[in-house]
Amino acid sequence: MAETLLRGAKVVVTMDDAGTELASADVLIRDGVIAAVGQGLTTTGTVHSAAGCVITPGLINTHHHLYQTLTRAVPGGQDALLFGWLRTLYPIWAKFGPEEMFISAQAGLVELALSGCTLSSDHLYLYPNGARLDDTIAAAAEVGLRFHPTRGAMSIGESDGGLPPDALVEREDAILNDCIRVIDAFHDPRPGAMVRVGVAPCSPFSVSTDLMRNAALLARDKGVMLHTHLAENDEDVAYSLERFGCRPGQYAEDLGWTGPDVWHAHCVKLDAGEIDLFARSGTGVAHCPCSNCRLGSGIAPVRAMRDAGVNVGLGVDGSASNDSGNLIGEARQAMLLQRVQNGADKMSAREALRLATRGGAAVLGRDDLGQIATGKRADLAIWDVSGIESAGSWDAAALVLAGPTRVRDLFVEGRQVVGNGRMLTVDTAALTLRQNRLARALMD
Ligand SMILES: [Zn+2]
Repeated sequence: MAETLLRGAKVVVTMDDAGTELASADVLIRDGVIAAVGQGLTTTGTVHSAAGCVITPGLINTHHHLYQTLTRAVPGGQDALLFGWLRTLYPIWAKFGPEEMFISAQAGLVELALSGCTLSSDHLYLYPNGARLDDTIAAAAEVGLRFHPTRGAMSIGESDGGLPPDALVEREDAILNDCIRVIDAFHDPRPGAMVRVGVAPCSPFSVSTDLMRNAALLARDKGVMLHTHLAENDEDVAYSLERFGCRPGQYAEDLGWTGPDVWHAHCVKLDAGEIDLFARSGTGVAHCPCSNCRLGSGIAPVRAMRDAGVNVGLGVDGSASNDSGNLIGEARQAMLLQRVQNGADKMSAREALRLATRGGAAVLGRDDLGQIATGKRADLAIWDVSGIESAGSWDAAALVLAGPTRVRDLFVEGRQVVGNGRMLTVDTAALTLRQNRLARALMD
């Protein structure tokens, strides 16, 4: 029986239903699960001082394209809208292979881990030159984060009126067969699962209606979740109206793409009827505020979604459109955007942190994660608030309002992944070198 006691935290932000925050408190971890939370706990196992620190649940990232960490700040894509940005980047992504997928995924996951993330989803929708979902799953296993990879896909190339070049699209029967393969090989439905696989055609503008419908049938047959991009910007909505004769929400509902086992990225342009549809059906949203700002897509109606009862989590989105993958920074950005649109009292720092923890857990169907409570999995972020960026802070909300933006320590399923601000599982310096070497090769 392995025990670790996190002792003497300045504050434990539990994120329970009542929003309890415990001062001078301990968290006891036993066999990967939170065994107790409170003051004066003892153990015969390892003691880990959390003095001067805030402990939060590990943050949960609900939308990413990890492969894009190799294409940050690409000239020509820096200032474009969504469709123009995609057209710039598709030919570069077409050069990727298994090594690029593995290394870029590790780089993205390390960046996330250092910003407090213990569970990330990923949306990989292109598989050039022998790349497979397996490459990113192997990368996450080494880094030590919990991982929800989704088997994405594109099937409508330029010659069929879609956006991606024909070289990056796959045959639909091959896509569905590979979905079955990766679900059977990697998906774990049990509580505490380290890997859960989802099915995720890229977007309504890059796959057929048939594939959307068949993907939903397959996911329900296999008991896995569904994910895609929806209503990201005005171009996206215009495409839906012109091509399908309806708004994105209607399209999703008609094809079986609503329900508690579905989450959609962005949803910047959902109207009141669509918000109501999402709330009634339990459909989740991955809100990606930095990416939405970077691509000028707009401000997602998160306040209205939350008030209507929609499950909303946060996503850093791919690093070609953020270009940072800092999840606590994303919480701050979510808070700021709702304030600039709706007023200073319309998104508190604590609510933003709730989106990043409980919100993400609800969106990804993980009632075993997202809060610090007995029986939940021991995914914990420890933030050192004794540094200069926290100096002078009066309240635990400073974590979102002021900083720090990097964790001191991170535990996933009770295993320490970050210690003293450094990765304990992978050699970050060597990884950075390899990543930069691959990026240079792509530039050439
Ligand atoms: Zn995306």
